[in-house]
Amino acid sequence: MIDKNQFRGHEQLAYFHDKESGLKAFIAVHDTSLGPAAGGCRVWPYESEMDALNDVLRLSRGMSYKNAMAGLPLGGGKAVIIGNSKTDKSDELLKALGRCINSLEGRYIAAEDVGMCTEDVMIVASETKFVAGLPQGDHASGDPSPFTAKGIYNGIKAAVKYKLGKDSLEGLTIAVQGVGHVGQYLCEYLHNDGVKLLVSDIVQENLDIAVQKYGATIVATDKILSVKADVLSPCALGAVLNDETIDHLNVSIIAGGANNQLAQDYHGVRLMDKGILFAPDYVINAGGIINVSGETTGNYDVSWVNKKVDNIYNTLIHIFERADKEERPTNVVADEMAEEILAKAKAANKAKTAA
Ligand code: NAD
Repeated sequence: MIDKNQFRGHEQLAYFHDKESGLKAFIAVHDTSLGPAAGGCRVWPYESEMDALNDVLRLSRGMSYKNAMAGLPLGGGKAVIIGNSKTDKSDELLKALGRCINSLEGRYIAAEDVGMCTEDVMIVASETKFVAGLPQGDHASGDPSPFTAKGIYNGIKAAVKYKLGKDSLEGLTIAVQGVGHVGQYLCEYLHNDGVKLLVSDIVQENLDIAVQKYGATIVATDKILSVKADVLSPCALGAVLNDETIDHLNVSIIAGGANNQLAQDYHGVRLMDKGILFAPDYVINAGGIINVSGETTGNYDVSWVNKKVDNIYNTLIHIFERADKEERPTNVVADEMAEEILAKAKAANKAKTAA
C-alpha cells in the first residue's frame, strides 16, 4: 500500500490505535545511524490514513536530513496523530501517545509540532521519558523559537555575504511573511542590525507588535511574495514557492524558517534559473531542534546550543559554494550532503559491529 519511493530509506513505520482515547497515530523512524530518531509530533485532521502516512514518511525523512546537516547526534523520525487539535486532543489521548512512544524503547524521541504545545508534551512525558522540548524541569530546553530565529538570522547573514558580498545587513530591505513566534524574534535581530522590515500576517495583533517594536511596514498578505526587497524570509507556511509565486518574486535571496517552502523539488531549479539564492529550509531553521537536542543529552548547555546555531552560517556557505561549483540547485545539494553524512554514519556503524 506504500509508494516505494516514499518509503525510501525508512527503518520502521508503526501504526497505533487506542480505542479508549480514540488515538490513531503513525510513528515513522527514518534513520537512526546518527542516534535515536528525533522529531515533532503533529496533530492534523488528515482526510485519510493514507494522507497521514504519506506525511509522516515525508516529515521523518526531512528530520533525518535536518538533524544530519545540523551535526546532531540524532536520527530522523516523526509522529502524526489523525485528529483535530482543538476538538480531538485529550489528556487520555496524549497519555496513550506517550505509551506508544514508550513501546519503541527510545528509537523515537518526540517533541512539539503543529497542533501540539508544550503543555501537551508535558502530559506525554508523564508516560514516557522519550520526549523533549519540555517547558520546565531539570535540563528542559524551553521555547525553541528564539533559537530557530537566531539560526535564520545567521543564515540570512550568510546568504547576504555570499550573494551580495556584504558583511552587514544595515540598510537592506527584508520581507518577512508571518510574524508569529519565530518571525517576531527574527524581526528583533534584523531591526537591531538596521534592516528595513516589510511584514505580513493574517493576525493584526502580530502585525501591530512588529510595527511598534521594530518599525516594520505592513504589506498585504497577497503582495508579500512579490514585494521588492533584498531578502524574502518565509516564516509562516510551507509550499509558498510554487508555479504561481516564483514568476513574481522580486528578491535576490530567500531565507526563512517555514518548513518545506518549495512546493516541489523542481522549484529549486526555477529559483536558480531566476538567479535567486535559496537557503534550504531544513538547514536554516534547525535552531529549534538544536535546542531540543541539547535537552536529549540530559545535560542542557546553552553555550553548546548557541555554538551549533551559529554554525548554520558556515553550513549554508558550504552549500552555496558547492551548488555554484556544480551548477545545481541548493536544495538538491543540501539533500545530497545530508545523504552523504548518513551514509558515512551507516558505514562507521557497520564497521563497529563487524569489529
Ligand atoms: P506561528 O504559528 O507562531 O507563526 C506563524 C505566523 O504566520 C502566524 O502569526 C500566522 O498568523 C502567520 N500566517 C499564517 N498564514 C499566513 C499567511 N497566509 N500570510 C502571512 N502570515 C500568515 O509559528 P512559528 O512557530 O513562528 O513557526 C513559523 C514557521 O517556522 C512554521 O512553518 C514552522 O513549521 C516553522 N518552524 C518553526 C520552528 C520553531 O521553533 N517554532 C522551528 C522550525 C520550523
